[in-house]
Amino acid sequence: MLDYTAPEQLLKNRVILITGAGDGIGRAAALDCARLGATVILLGRTIEKLEAVYDDIERAGHGQPAIYPLDLSTATDENYIELAQVLEGEFGSLDGLVHNASILGQRTPISNYESRTWQRVMQVNVTAPFMMTQALLPLLETSNDASVIFTSSSVGAQGKAYWGAYSVSKFATEGMAQVLSEETENTSKIRVNIINPGATRTNMRAQAYPGEDPGLNLAPEDIMPTYQYLLGPDSTGVTGQRFNAQEMSK
Ligand code: NDP
Repeated sequence: MLDYTAPEQLLKNRVILITGAGDGIGRAAALDCARLGATVILLGRTIEKLEAVYDDIERAGHGQPAIYPLDLSTATDENYIELAQVLEGEFGSLDGLVHNASILGQRTPISNYESRTWQRVMQVNVTAPFMMTQALLPLLETSNDASVIFTSSSVGAQGKAYWGAYSVSKFATEGMAQVLSEETENTSKIRVNIINPGATRTNMRAQAYPGEDPGLNLAPEDIMPTYQYLLGPDSTGVTGQRFNAQEMSK
């Protein structure tokens, strides 16, 4: 599955929530899903960024998206229950959930890592996706073809010096996706998969590699085929797998 070209309107009639939709890979995924016909829920913490993506989608003439501001570092169970209620009331169902938002934390040895930063990274990258998934599972179960995507990293499969909580959080993300995919495989129509985006030209990449020439990396738009494939009907039945987005890039 190294080549995937999304048919027009691949995601028509699908409601897809993307976290961290205001910037980077999440922004590109939001625009792309809207282009392919989905109703996109833009979730993130910086309203101005979400509004800018909203405007881009409207300007391009795609279906009207929705904005859902939420800070994943502080969101509570009540916030996620409210999210589920609002989505049910507004859309009735949920067909796609893209756990994309993450923070990098510090690039420093474990011996030096601040425990508050460690906890914040684990909260945003692991605990928040767990709480959100749990709250949204009933809504995903009402879809005929629901797809959940977790976002990992190469350091989520092989630990690397100085990547600290980020690396550990991505191992946890992969574990969560594997556990959930087994739990949903025979009991629901929900599929659960992992994407490793690979080096991609975003703020996070620049933060992790300040000395790197950004032009060497693919743009977020280039790695969209894997997202398209996993969110659309062509991946029905595919679950518990890990995809390197650069292998299916444009
Ligand atoms: P960016 O930093 O460019 O974007 C991250 C997004 O997550 C932003 O929209 C950000 O919001 C949002 N976010 C961060 N913290 C919170 C929070 N507390 N609550 C809500 N939203 C939040 O990162 P990328 O686009 O590069 O990364 C996207 C995903 O891909 C991440 O999971 C990352 O780990 C993964 N990845 C990226 C790689 C790369 O090379 N770029 C390589 C491997 C994995 P705001 O803009 O308001 O800060």
